[in-house]
Amino acid sequence: MKREPIIAIDGPSGAGKSTLSGLLARRFGYIHIDTGAMYRCVAVAAQRDGLDPSDEAALAQICSHLEISFVRSNDDQRVLLNRKDVSEAIRTPEISLLTSRISAHPRVRAAMVFLQRQMGAGGGVVLEGRDIGTVVFPDAEVKFFLEASARERGRRRFEELQAKGLEVDLETTIAEVKARDAADRNRTHAPLIPAEDAVIIDSTQLEISEVLEQMAAVAQQRRRAAGLPIRSDGDRP
Ligand code: C5P
Repeated sequence: MKREPIIAIDGPSGAGKSTLSGLLARRFGYIHIDTGAMYRCVAVAAQRDGLDPSDEAALAQICSHLEISFVRSNDDQRVLLNRKDVSEAIRTPEISLLTSRISAHPRVRAAMVFLQRQMGAGGGVVLEGRDIGTVVFPDAEVKFFLEASARERGRRRFEELQAKGLEVDLETTIAEVKARDAADRNRTHAPLIPAEDAVIIDSTQLEISEVLEQMAAVAQQRRRAAGLPIRSDGDRP
């Protein structure tokens, strides 16, 4: 039997990946895998153990002991690290910057890519990240690359952090988003670049619902081309 597709969603921070991956996964009844959250878990564990972020060997060593899982709770997806809920702890600005540093190490990436392939191999999944369509699943049936201007992405991240009650400043948040992007785009291993066959969507001027409809239409068309049965759209989020 044909399996459901793998949907890869890459792009810089604040481009709408998390929201859209969640909505798309719900639309098709797929599993949503937030690979950024996995790298963030490594950063939280490294900080907790007082590791030097440039010590690749030590970071690779802790990767082999981490148990990372995603659980659904109502409309929310929670992130568990060694069975402890770290959904909030992984989202602080400090952890964001640390994550960008540690994720540049090839051995850390190799450990995470291994887990991601295990989680997604069966299809019927939406994976979001930076290198899903290029490295993790270069053969994914559906690939998107989401973009938006740096200012707009910084503004979205600022609102998100503010809504969580964190003390943040708009210009600082924009600067942090830019710094993280530059690190992700310019690193040697698995830099952030669109896959050649990715559908590129710039969401700067678009509503979430408009982007979702574009993405769902592409995914549905690929499913049809692969001969998969039509799914009802009755569960539109
Ligand atoms: O997506 P999110 O902003 O949560 O990702 C946090 C960081 O994790 C990114 O800035 C990037 O450095 C790293 N990351 C990565 N590869 C992925 C997903 C995230 O290097 N597939």
